Amino acid sequence: MRAVVFEKWQTFPSLTEVEKPKPGPGEVLLKVAGAGACHSDVALYKDFAEGAPGSIPPAFVLGHENSGWVEELGEGVSGVEIGGAYLVYGPVGCGHCKACSRGQDTYCENAAEMPYLGMGLGRDGGMAEYLVVPVRNLVPLGDADPVAAAPLSDAALTPYHAIKNSLPNLAGGGKFALVIGLGGLGQMAVQILKALTGATVIATDMKEEAMQKAEAAGAIVVPGGEGQVERIREITGGRGVDAAFDFVGVGPTIKTAAASMAPQSRFTVVGIAGGSYEWSFFTTPYESTITNTYWGTIEDLHEVVAMYRAGQIKPEVELYSMDNALEAYRKLEAGELSGRAVVVP
Ligand code: NAD
Ligand code: ZN
Repeated sequence: MRAVVFEKWQTFPSLTEVEKPKPGPGEVLLKVAGAGACHSDVALYKDFAEGAPGSIPPAFVLGHENSGWVEELGEGVSGVEIGGAYLVYGPVGCGHCKACSRGQDTYCENAAEMPYLGMGLGRDGGMAEYLVVPVRNLVPLGDADPVAAAPLSDAALTPYHAIKNSLPNLAGGGKFALVIGLGGLGQMAVQILKALTGATVIATDMKEEAMQKAEAAGAIVVPGGEGQVERIREITGGRGVDAAFDFVGVGPTIKTAAASMAPQSRFTVVGIAGGSYEWSFFTTPYESTITNTYWGTIEDLHEVVAMYRAGQIKPEVELYSMDNALEAYRKLEAGELSGRAVVVP
């Protein structure tokens, strides 16, 4: 079968022929419906040097945002229907530690002994005609469209988890949230904030088109450049935002978000660009928190699917055939996408 493979450090992936996988005990074979292209893939194959924090040694099939139809069951598997449509929870932990027991494989206590982090992250992912996944990683989609659902498993799950952790900061009237970086994850963040909270959402990006989309989803947009922080503060009546989410994560965006925070607010850095921030007592709003996050829990993913099925969130997708899969990554790198790129093999 054909697949998009990360073959060598700091090298653009290849569209190549690989063997069709077979499900082992406790696993299922999926016929892939859709595989989303995430900016983290670009970090994996292009930005990270061998041994850098966050790097994962090649070779493996890319794609950690996957959906598909069950085609074959491995030994001992029951409880899923052949032909049924499922979304894939991507992280794979040991399955029995405290973190994995609460469905948070991302923070598996035995991660150091695991040979991979998940599908498309050390273990073969979904940018292929078929994908093997542990049965415990399946989330049923029912009669919802599995192709458009593929980005939910990261582009929606990651902001959902970050927003859920910030809900105490956004509860009550007159609250403000800031979203920086309105690509695959950021657009979903705006929709999730609108659906889960009554907060006024302020959003920004370097791309005019991305800001227009966020505006259509109900955000107030503030372009970058001189006076941006003052403009954000003005919208909040001078107090600053109660929760901020940075889907870029370079030094300047972290600085913008940090300078926009209210006392007792929470700022989550989601983008993995590796920017840093200098903290000091008198320049930091009292009792404010700056944190990071990695993906989400499988319970969160069930909730994200429920929101999708209820029509509360809707990823905007651009579909690519397997023949054009590399074009999806080229456009993602160049910032030329206007929706999440989903490869439909
Ligand atoms: P994307 O390419 O779809 O979107 C990025 C957006 O940020 C684009 O709209 C771009 O115009 C905008 N942007 C870039 N630089 C900017 C700047 N300086 N100021 C304002 N806007 C800027 O990327 P994505 O797939 O949505 O991923 C976003 C980030 O989140 C990436 O760093 C990705 O690796 C990371 N990510 C993290 C997790 C996690 O678990 N923490 C999960 C998935 C993705
Ligand atoms: Zn574990």
